[in-house]
Amino acid sequence: MDGAPDRVTVRAMVSVLLVEDDPVVRSAVSRALTGLGHAVLPVGTALEALREITGGAFDLVVLDLGLPDMDGADALRMMRGVCDVPVIVATARDDESEIVRLLNAGADDYLVKPFSSEHLAARLSAVLRRARKDAAPATFRVGRLTVDLDRREARLDGRELNLTRKEFDLLAYLAAREGKVVPRAELLANLWNLPGRHDDQTLDVHLSWLRRKLGERAAQPRYLHTVRGVGFKLTAAE
Ligand code: CA
Repeated sequence: MDGAPDRVTVRAMVSVLLVEDDPVVRSAVSRALTGLGHAVLPVGTALEALREITGGAFDLVVLDLGLPDMDGADALRMMRGVCDVPVIVATARDDESEIVRLLNAGADDYLVKPFSSEHLAARLSAVLRRARKDAAPATFRVGRLTVDLDRREARLDGRELNLTRKEFDLLAYLAAREGKVVPRAELLANLWNLPGRHDDQTLDVHLSWLRRKLGERAAQPRYLHTVRGVGFKLTAAE
């Protein structure tokens, strides 16, 4: 069910790579993040984290510094070499010089363990807010379609579209990745919080409604293209 429009949904829903070797801490933090409505991929080593970061798109990394296979600062530097995803480092040591060293190595913020889920949530949203201010535009334009995240408004040919919350989230997610094929599993994980799922009718239902509101048909797409067996992409008509 779609609730009342919520202007922060797209921004609040993020995919987090959690790097933590302690299984107890890992599952607790994982639960906390899921409880906050985020999609979480938990891994236990720096090497796994680097592999995931190379292959996937994450909005944020929570990186434990006491990993078995690599020094935290080295792991951080290697991540920075691959992409500029925001990284919050989690350290057991409340050591100022160590924290300064990590911030200098490219960490966006830090948490001293043990931390509460409220503390994690606060750090996470502050870091994402800063990252978005730096990078992501609040409005996406694809052809004659505009999607304004701040106002949660989508317009086609200047006319405002009357979208449900989920339809808007879906459109915004695809618009932010214009021209890129977004796999079904990624949409289900990030917008419906159903990680590991590939097939779900709810996605098709929302897509078909969105398509109708965009005034197009699957057989003759203008913006919303189905890539059979893979996913969807939003692109301006050629
Ligand atoms: Ca550890």
